[in-house]
Amino acid sequence: MKQIIIGNWKMFGLTYQVKDLVTKLLSGLKQFSPQADIVICPPATQLSNVASLIHGSQIALGGQDCQADDLVTHTGDISAEMLKDIGAQYVIIGHSERREIHHETDAIVQTKTVQAQDWGLIPIVCVGETEIERRTGAYRDSVKKQINEGLPDDFNGIVAYEPIWAIHGGMSASLQEISSMMQIIRKELAKRFNRTTAEGIRILYGGSVNPDNAESILSLEGVNGVLIGSASLSAEKFLAIIRSS
Ligand code: PGA
Repeated sequence: MKQIIIGNWKMFGLTYQVKDLVTKLLSGLKQFSPQADIVICPPATQLSNVASLIHGSQIALGGQDCQADDLVTHTGDISAEMLKDIGAQYVIIGHSERREIHHETDAIVQTKTVQAQDWGLIPIVCVGETEIERRTGAYRDSVKKQINEGLPDDFNGIVAYEPIWAIHGGMSASLQEISSMMQIIRKELAKRFNRTTAEGIRILYGGSVNPDNAESILSLEGVNGVLIGSASLSAEKFLAIIRSS
């Protein structure tokens, strides 16, 4: 399966910074033939800017969230239709920061995923356990629950495993932890859907991925790509990770 490298810019991006970063990425990508799909997910205010900068290139555009319905009465939010309209092909749903800060439940994640699919976007659904769940051994059940309750029956997207304790801290999960979670997730997807469907779903790892650990993570069996936060804000680092795929 073709791997996919996704940059999640979160709240990064003033216009001049975005122009500089994307320009460097595009010229770096001309130096080699990337083996993976590449996606960047800028904040809503930069979607249109990034869409025109990457036009005609091999970088695809993604949103960081979308609303669960099409009603106009959502001050501050954006819909899947609006993402589609601006040229996005992907959307991150249920990132742990949204689950925590915006109290998004698995039920909400599922509704948003349906909405994204209805508009022809590929949802990147994030799942992952807290540090306490990891320490107490409850992590497997926690992730399984997010898969079973957060994904719709006709799920047609990507699953990103992002242990919350590994995000932004500079310390990624160990290769063994990643490997074992990939198997657990793939198995749960097979139970939730069926084996063929599960085998066709790309499962990514996210959490402190950087140029030093990307190659070993991406060569693990069952890892179909990575979701990158901090390191995607540096053209040099993001390109180095793309080269590792
Ligand atoms: P990080 O973020 O790479 O900075 O750990 C990953 C994410 O939150 O998607």
